[in-house]
Parts: sequence; C-alpha cells; structure tokens
Amino acid sequence: MEECVFCKIIEGKIEAYKIFEDDKVICILDKKPISKGHCLIIPKKHFNDIFDIDEDDLKQIIADTKKVANLLKTKLNAKGINLLHASDKVAQQSVFHFHIHIVPRYEDDGLDTWPKSNYKEKSFNDILSTLLD
Ligand SMILES: [Zn+2]
Repeated sequence: MEECVFCKIIEGKIEAYKIFEDDKVICILDKKPISKGHCLIIPKKHFNDIFDIDEDDLKQIIADTKKVANLLKTKLNAKGINLLHASDKVAQQSVFHFHIHIVPRYEDDGLDTWPKSNYKEKSFNDILSTLLD
C-alpha cells in the first residue's frame, strides 16, 4: 500500500504521536483531535475496512481498545469514551486503512457524537425476515 498514510506511519516513514503499540496494533493521537486524548487505533497489517479485516486482528484491536480506554481514563481523567468507526466512502471513511477513533469524553465537553437522523423504520419485521432468512 504505497500511498496509505497509516502504512507509512507504521513503517516509520511519517511521524506520529504513538501512545500504544503491540505486535499487531498501534494507537496514535489524532492530528485533528475533537477532545483531549482523541486517538486512532490501527492494525499494523493493511486492511481496508470492517469487511476485509482479519478476525484475529480485529479481536486484538478490540482488546487493545480497552487498554487504551483505561489509559485515557486513569491518566487523562476521561469520564467516558466514544468509539467511532467508518467503513466505506458511504459511511464517510476518509483513510482506507481500518481504524477506530477512541474519543475520550469529559464532563461538559460540549461534544455530541451521536448522529441525528430523521429516519423512521417502517417495518422491523421486514428487516428481521430479510436478515434472518
Ligand atoms: Zn495501510
């Protein structure tokens, strides 16, 4: 992945503020943070998105997300955490190397990370029958 910015960070070709690393995963501070300690947890191996990531790598990322969340809680006094992820352009993915945003939350931080929508479900039963068919 010649032009992938996260692969370049993992290869050490681009500098990043690394706060956690193990054999499969790195976690770096987001360069445009939306809260104190906002970071990105990234598999070292290139996967585009949730659809092609290896299950073992995903398990490691989730386990490491908990470690980073605890780090943010204990060291930065975060009170809560939002996990944000996008897979595919339609979901507003901007870097096409799988990653999860870990957003520490603080009392009265003014953030609203929950999407707003006017969508109303017409039939939950239709969805159920389609998904479970
Ligand atoms: Zn990559």
